[in-house]
Amino acid sequence: MKIEKAEHSAKTQIISSNCDVMISFRLDGVIFHWNAVAENIFGYPAIEAIGRNISIVFPINYFKDPQAFISATAEKSTEYETVCKTKEGDRINLLFHVFPVNSETETLQGISLIAKDITDTKIAEEKQAILSSIVSSSDDAIISKNLKGIITSWNKAATDIFGYSEEEAIGQNISIIIPSESKVEEELIIESIRKGEKIDHFETFRVAKDGTEKLVSLTVSPVKNRKGEIIGASKILRDLTEKDNDDERQATLAAIVTSSDDAIISKTLDGIITSWNHSATLMFGYTPEEAIGKHISFIIPKDRMHEETNIIQNIRQGNKIEHFETIRLAKNGSERQISLTISPIRNSRGKIIGASKIARDISLRIEAENKQKFYTQRLMDLNIYKDEFMVMASHELKTPLTVILASLQILKQMMEDDSRVDFISKTINQVNKLNELIYKLFDVSKIHAGKLKFELSHFDMKNLVEAIIDQTSKSTTHSLIFKCYGDNFAVYADEERIVQVVVNIIGNAIKYSPKQGEVLIELRKESKNITVNVYDKGIGIPQSDLENIFQRFYRVSGSASSFAGSGIGLYLSAEIVKYHKGKIWAESTIGEGSVFHFTIPTAD
Ligand code: ADP
Repeated sequence: MKIEKAEHSAKTQIISSNCDVMISFRLDGVIFHWNAVAENIFGYPAIEAIGRNISIVFPINYFKDPQAFISATAEKSTEYETVCKTKEGDRINLLFHVFPVNSETETLQGISLIAKDITDTKIAEEKQAILSSIVSSSDDAIISKNLKGIITSWNKAATDIFGYSEEEAIGQNISIIIPSESKVEEELIIESIRKGEKIDHFETFRVAKDGTEKLVSLTVSPVKNRKGEIIGASKILRDLTEKDNDDERQATLAAIVTSSDDAIISKTLDGIITSWNHSATLMFGYTPEEAIGKHISFIIPKDRMHEETNIIQNIRQGNKIEHFETIRLAKNGSERQISLTISPIRNSRGKIIGASKIARDISLRIEAENKQKFYTQRLMDLNIYKDEFMVMASHELKTPLTVILASLQILKQMMEDDSRVDFISKTINQVNKLNELIYKLFDVSKIHAGKLKFELSHFDMKNLVEAIIDQTSKSTTHSLIFKCYGDNFAVYADEERIVQVVVNIIGNAIKYSPKQGEVLIELRKESKNITVNVYDKGIGIPQSDLENIFQRFYRVSGSASSFAGSGIGLYLSAEIVKYHKGKIWAESTIGEGSVFHFTIPTAD
């Protein structure tokens, strides 16, 4: 094979240098030339490569049809780029040109290629591409500037946050986004950058094209050239107002405001209405168009104008006003009873710029409160009527009953020997019970009306208790045992009422111990008090009922309810003891019995 040496060397001189790979191979792919650079890059020594197929380094199908490859491209001196494989199996990027190797008869005999290893450039390019895609897709504004403050790069987020397009920003001074009061800050930043210092997460304000202030977190790093000299700074600015979330929050808030049942109104510190929701329209009758821009005073009654002055004063001081009940006027002139909650509105820098008012219609609540007052009063009146009725009724019942009782007693005496006397006795008994109940009811109604009268006198408790025991013993089969500890049982009290207490307690002890025949009555003198204790071995009282038995009409349910009674006796006893500044209480074990105690102060 004869190679067109002249042509070959001319071309290779143009584009090759001694750092280029030079390889030649025949049409069947067999390598016949392999230079030192190829040895170096691919790891195959010439001796090993020559005679082998080009596919040891090139992708297997790359030179499958060398004839077509050359005719399609060689004349245009096309540059190819491909990934080859070294002996070690590493991938390298090659940039190459191909040339025909012709025979003397101009027939194609093979291909020569001159190639450059561009792996490093390729990696660098990829890195660069990754970096620029990070920069352009970042949510943070990434800006670089030179040491004079001239903007040299400006990413998409910078446009989103500050409103300037890349074209508008590049070449401008960074001061376009720096509020005038922060200019000094920028000088300090530049100073730090010149010293090679980095600034991390520095919170400050920047200003957008439309003049809105942005709270940002700033990270600034020096940018160095290859020689390591500082040539500028790269800035990363994070918008702390978090626009996306903010938008979402704004949308949520707007939906709440629109759908709220409360009127929500905002106004400036001068009282000019800046927003007016649907409920405000329903409550006051004005549409947002009619209300916004007007002074809030058009819904304030004349005699309440001073309230607005107070409100604004509080708002200026940053105070919130909660549930302030007042009256405002609707468009049709009617009054609205409302509860107002007013809060200051602050801008992003915390400055108070207005007030938001939430007005709740409380007419229904006030109506309900008035109704409740009315019914409470009515109930109290009815209670008074009831008490008056009870006083009247018991009084009216007492008179005929007393007459019936007296007549029956006379009749009984007149019929001394008559066997029908038994019926009269039973009738007298029942009339006595009725009489007792009426007296008790009468007392209850008097206590309730605060009209129970007490007549105090000096008497001896021991005599009183003994007399009651004597009297009671006559009409019961229970044996009443009396024990007395101490002497001088003189008291100053209402004797009749104290009798009532003792009779009731002993009567209960007998009534609620039907199977046990013994009741123990103790009288004790203890320093300034006399205590009466009445023990029975009866049915007992559940613990849960013990504190209730002194309430009016309270009766223990269960087996106790099979005993006739009205639940009045202990209530009256407690009231009487209370009047005498004594105490009354009970202890009991169910099924074993009860003990009732009451005290009364001694006369001395
Ligand atoms: P009542 O007329 O019902 O006996 P009281 O006011 O005297 O009314 O007593 C209230 C309730 O206390 C009674 O219904 C009864 O259940 C309970 N009670 C009072 N004394 C005794 C007692 N010694 N043993 C058991 N239960 C008693």
